[in-house]
Amino acid sequence: MTSRKPSVAAIGGELIEPVPIGARAVYLVETRSQDEAREVERLFDELESRARVCKLCEGKLLSYVVQTSRSDSALLDEIEDVLKATCGFVVTQGSFDEVIYRIVRELCEDTGSTLLPARECDVCGRPEPFPSTVATRNGKGLMASSRQCCGGCAAKAMERAELARRPLRNRQVRGKDARLATVR
Ligand SMILES: [Zn+2]
Repeated sequence: MTSRKPSVAAIGGELIEPVPIGARAVYLVETRSQDEAREVERLFDELESRARVCKLCEGKLLSYVVQTSRSDSALLDEIEDVLKATCGFVVTQGSFDEVIYRIVRELCEDTGSTLLPARECDVCGRPEPFPSTVATRNGKGLMASSRQCCGGCAAKAMERAELARRPLRNRQVRGKDARLATVR
């Protein structure tokens, strides 16, 4: 099995770290004791060797986002099973978005837990736990600017850069390309 590590792609003037293709889940856990909270924190600490982990809040309510490098969700399901066996209140969502983040924030207020500062997309301002880097190079090939983007904004930058790179006469007018090429 070959593992494709995400690499930084250089397209036109922009260097874009491709959007990760793995699966993502958000876990909300209400703990009943400090021992239980420590147990949950240890579980997610250990996970850091197998996936990307971002803690959203701490206190009575613990919430984490986990991003795996593969698209199958076996590891994410395993985490849910362990949490449900350990804690009384567990909610899992298979994606991270503004709605789940608002729920985490509200539950933090209700339970007196602490919401940790979230990373935000430099383009649209949405919270993004695992941003992609979109960097622009100047004429000397040096990095002129760099932005941390959410998946949606990084994908748009990638699309724009690919379109800009393609010489006009070589643009294939069919399928998806037809739609892109006719925009403006
Ligand atoms: Zn964005």
